[in-house]
Amino acid sequence: MGKLSDIGTIKQILARHGFSFSKALGQNFLINPTISPKMAELCGAEQENTGVLEIGPGIGVLTCELAKRAPKVVAVELDKRLIPILSETLADFNNAKIINDDIMKVDLKKLLKAEFSGMNVVVCANLPYYITSPVLMRLLEEKLGLAAITVMVQKEVAQRLCAGAESRKTGSISLAVNYYAEPELLFGVKKGSFMPQPKVDSAVVKLNVRKSPPCKVLSEELFFKVIKMAFLQRRKTVINALSGGNAIAMPKTELMEIFERLGILQTKRAENLSIKQFAYLSNELHLRGLE
Ligand code: SAM
Repeated sequence: MGKLSDIGTIKQILARHGFSFSKALGQNFLINPTISPKMAELCGAEQENTGVLEIGPGIGVLTCELAKRAPKVVAVELDKRLIPILSETLADFNNAKIINDDIMKVDLKKLLKAEFSGMNVVVCANLPYYITSPVLMRLLEEKLGLAAITVMVQKEVAQRLCAGAESRKTGSISLAVNYYAEPELLFGVKKGSFMPQPKVDSAVVKLNVRKSPPCKVLSEELFFKVIKMAFLQRRKTVINALSGGNAIAMPKTELMEIFERLGILQTKRAENLSIKQFAYLSNELHLRGLE
């Protein structure tokens, strides 16, 4: 077998196995040989006693680079047609294991305990775009003790993830990610680096998981609900977004009084509120009996 990062070799493997890409599974495979070594280096795979969880290995281009550097790599791939291909492309690595399953259904705590007991664990993946946010939220919310999550995502999503609070690019995902991790935009990747070529460029983001949150939150459930409601109607002021419809069961006048007490301007929109201000607000709502 030729070098796996070589486009000719990739095409040959896919043709030999009669493989056709599934759009539904977000299958855009890396064909630019410089990207996976860079991702593997920057994700922390080379750090001592570190195991890597990969999501969606495809034909194993990134998996090979990870297995060259880390003592153990476990990759979860949903498409069973890729399993025989992976056994071929990863034949030289006895430290790489493939699990044929859906990353949204796998019991992650159990998997990490079984595969990486006593090790630091990082995630490294070229994510299928259709589950980017739910996968990231799962990895963060389940408090799996991961050290970092390095992912290739669509460029626009990367900008959102790294926007922090108080910017036009900020969305509810930015605040949620910032609560659990410190995001870092590593590098951009042109759409021509994939086969088939997607419509938009991508970027690699590293989420350095925090040991503790940046602000005290009494009810995480309510905190995230308030953020979500505020961003659902981002053009409105937060007070109007929260008091309109059935967003939260609290009259506008009471919300205005809370904003005044917290020293937050009543004209602020979601994108103008800091993560701390969302925490103060949701804590106050929690103390007043909201769930
Ligand atoms: N890592 C490969 C690369 O960089 O060339 C492939 C990346 S491709 C963007 C996404 C991969 O995720 C595909 O192999 C696809 O089959 C797999 N995938 C899609 N949905 C998945 C899911 N729910 N669980 C696990 N893998 C999934």
